[in-house]
Amino acid sequence: MLKTTLAGSLPKPAWLADPGAQLFAPWVPSADRLREAQDDAVRLAIADQEEAGIDIVSDGEQRRRHYIWGFLEGLTGTDTVRLGRKRTRGGKYVAEQDVARITGELTRPGPIMGPALAFAKAHTRRPVKVTLPAPMTLVDTTLDEHYKGDEESLAMRFAALLNAEARDLAAAGADVIQFDEPCFNIYLDKVKAWGIRALEAAIAGVTATTTIHICYSYGIPRVLAWKKQNTEWGQYGVTLPLLRETRIDQISLECAASGVDVAVLAEARGKDVLLGVIDVGTEEVESPELVAARIRKALPYVDPGRLFPCTDCGMVPRTRSAARGKLRALVEGARLVQRELARP
Ligand code: ZN
Repeated sequence: MLKTTLAGSLPKPAWLADPGAQLFAPWVPSADRLREAQDDAVRLAIADQEEAGIDIVSDGEQRRRHYIWGFLEGLTGTDTVRLGRKRTRGGKYVAEQDVARITGELTRPGPIMGPALAFAKAHTRRPVKVTLPAPMTLVDTTLDEHYKGDEESLAMRFAALLNAEARDLAAAGADVIQFDEPCFNIYLDKVKAWGIRALEAAIAGVTATTTIHICYSYGIPRVLAWKKQNTEWGQYGVTLPLLRETRIDQISLECAASGVDVAVLAEARGKDVLLGVIDVGTEEVESPELVAARIRKALPYVDPGRLFPCTDCGMVPRTRSAARGKLRALVEGARLVQRELARP
């Protein structure tokens, strides 16, 4: 009951990437030293999670500059160096942003995250989660200069590539494969029209536990400013009934920093819920009591055997000390509630 996990990313050490840059931070080590530095950072990220007592760990996404690019850079036909400009996320957080370009035929010459998974698995006995960007979010966060077709076709193309990667990861021993799909909170019409179908195509035949992570984006200033003034938090009420009909195993939701009413979690019945109980937009570390209170609020709607206390989103923009504190608070808060539930 109440096994803990994290959305995926942890902050990188300053010797690996500039912590002031938050997202897309350039690498500090030279190319010939990067691999060893990333290996060391992964060992530290796993150690931090194990020390805190996190049950299902990740490599802290220490090997990727951005959660989209880690996958894109393993494909042919993408350019993450010369970027394009695009309106993304419905213009919700910023009018336009720099995005990777699709410049040729998208193919996957071989496994992308496989070597990173093997390294992580060699350094922990705990179950390991691998995260991949999901189809709609890939479409939204790339500028298509090659196919120039409709979004749905591109999503299905990405879904096929993701499916091949996810099948390989499952065969290589990934315990959990998570698809990051923040766009399911943005384009509700497209979720219905083709988003669910693209997700189903991405997870078809994948033998690992599959997860979809749907959040209200990173805890960075422009997103925090949007959240502060937002009053419409009904998106999960639309997407959860649709996801209930899919074969996805787990749904990861932002419930700490958003204005979401957790009663909506009743709509996720039959699925595991990764409940966001850690606000990733603040350096302030939650008390275990606050985390426990957030978990208790969800108990009327989710079976404790299906409830996984989790972070709202990735912690890459945070300081390492705040992230470590938040991991500890997550575990201690979960333990408080575990003890209450174990009482006869
Ligand atoms: Zn997220």
